Amino acid sequence: QKFEDFGLSTEMLNALSKKGFEEPSEIQKLVLPELLKERTHLIGQAQTGTGKTAAFGIPILETIKSDKTVKALILAPTRELANQVADEIYSLKGEKDLKVLAVYGGASIENQIRRLKSGVDIVVGTPGRVIDLMNKKVLKVNNLDYFVLDEADEMLNMGFVEDIEEILKKTNDEKKMLFFSATIPKPILAIAKKFMPEYKLLKV
Ligand code: AMP
Repeated sequence: QKFEDFGLSTEMLNALSKKGFEEPSEIQKLVLPELLKERTHLIGQAQTGTGKTAAFGIPILETIKSDKTVKALILAPTRELANQVADEIYSLKGEKDLKVLAVYGGASIENQIRRLKSGVDIVVGTPGRVIDLMNKKVLKVNNLDYFVLDEADEMLNMGFVEDIEEILKKTNDEKKMLFFSATIPKPILAIAKKFMPEYKLLKV
């Protein structure tokens, strides 16, 4: 399978070749067709380094329509990972007119508020700062097409499960949910069962 087989836009194919991605990784081969064609929730079991960021980043970039509201919320356990994910998505964005923002604690909230007010399509954030920004009414999560939990097992280890539930409860129903995790511990499966009517488990 090649990237050309997934019906990706020319802009995306250009961005991929610019990044030097010659062929899809295993997780991308599994996730891309599901996300580009079907409305199903997914749990992807994959380690870091497998290309999972592009596996969810490509469909997000290909399918969201910019309307000045947040269309994709990606939760990551650490500031480093949030930056890394935002950078990877930004580099896959190519010519598309979409705004990507990483939000996390320990950095100026004023800057993040200013950026959010100016209109952001994709937010990558750590749970605590996401909740702060939601409470300040500058981050609205009621118009999402995608909710992504990245490194869900790490989120659990860091005690973010309640935060994740708090955020998920405020999101709109009509969205695709994607959980990525190296292992699928019980509490993560429990959240999935609580919030996803049905899901597919993809494993590499
Ligand atoms: P990730 O697992 O998302 O952290 O990705 C690990 C690394 O693999 C990152 O540097 C990506 O840019 C790179 N990568 C992702 N997909 C591909 C691909 N299809 N071909 C080559 N490199 C890739």
